[in-house]
Amino acid sequence: MTEMLIKAEGLSVHFTIGSGLFNKQILKAVDNVTLDIEKGSFFGLVGESGSGKTTLGRALLKAVPIAEGSAHYEDGEVSYDLQSLEGADLKDYRKRAQLIFQDPYAALSPRMTVRDIIAEPLEVMGLTKNRTETDERVREIAAKCRLNLEHLRRFPHAFSGGQRQRISIARALVSGPQFVVADESVAALDVSIQADVLNLLKQLQDELGLTFMFISHDLSVVAHTCDHVAVMYLGRLVETAPTRKLFAAPRHPYTKALFSAIPSLDPDDRGKAQKLEGEIPSPTNQPSGCKFHTRCPYAIDVCKTTEPQLETETDHEVACHRWKELMDAVPA
Ligand code: SF4
Repeated sequence: MTEMLIKAEGLSVHFTIGSGLFNKQILKAVDNVTLDIEKGSFFGLVGESGSGKTTLGRALLKAVPIAEGSAHYEDGEVSYDLQSLEGADLKDYRKRAQLIFQDPYAALSPRMTVRDIIAEPLEVMGLTKNRTETDERVREIAAKCRLNLEHLRRFPHAFSGGQRQRISIARALVSGPQFVVADESVAALDVSIQADVLNLLKQLQDELGLTFMFISHDLSVVAHTCDHVAVMYLGRLVETAPTRKLFAAPRHPYTKALFSAIPSLDPDDRGKAQKLEGEIPSPTNQPSGCKFHTRCPYAIDVCKTTEPQLETETDHEVACHRWKELMDAVPA
């Protein structure tokens, strides 16, 4: 039977911005999201900047408060309701759920050696008894992340982007987490280095039995890495499916537009791209009905008034009033 590590139901994250009676606004960064993340899987979360991906990842790490709905973590050893998690259980969850940052240049303190950067979570969380044990653990995880052990005494500025990201990965994994959120973790790297870091993440997933939530704006990166993909737009999930199914036959017009933005090697395909017009609307001023209707070439009257809910057909979910009739539509 499939085991789920994370289960979220109707999860929403709201931020209050501005102050005073008339300037205060509620920003719905994540709005009524339901998803399951299978244990040991590589779960992709895609969407443009401003779609709420990062906030959803942080809510699942209990790094931002959940306003509505619920999220549960269950790894066979412990079971936590993230909404009410606090005290010793929250401290324990910090060990089990970790984040790999996007920017390896900004994430690493330039004044700490690589050894101290990787060791810090062990020391802050009190996970080792003494320096010898800490050093042993640091060397073990550094080797798994393909870092040269001689380099542990150096400072981050001595390393390339790819090497720095491997240091960030080692720091995230040193506490022995089960769940890892990788937030645009290869976006700041050259394409050739991206493949190297992605291969390392896949290898670590296999070796350590990790479960990844891989956040990216780039579908082509997700294609080769993830088992399952969720597409997010303005705080809502609009489509989810196993990667193979999503890439073979995307159903939501937004997903199709994201696919069209992937450069094609076939010159005959290049003219067929469906351009994603306009900007993603502000989360403080969201459109009524389908949130994508202001940019969707297929919007009709009902799209402006009624929000479509996720419909499931086997393991493929889509939230669009017209997905069935649009299955064979050629991009406008
Ligand atoms: Fe486009 Fe309407 Fe479907 Fe929204 S519900 S994606 S506006 S066709």
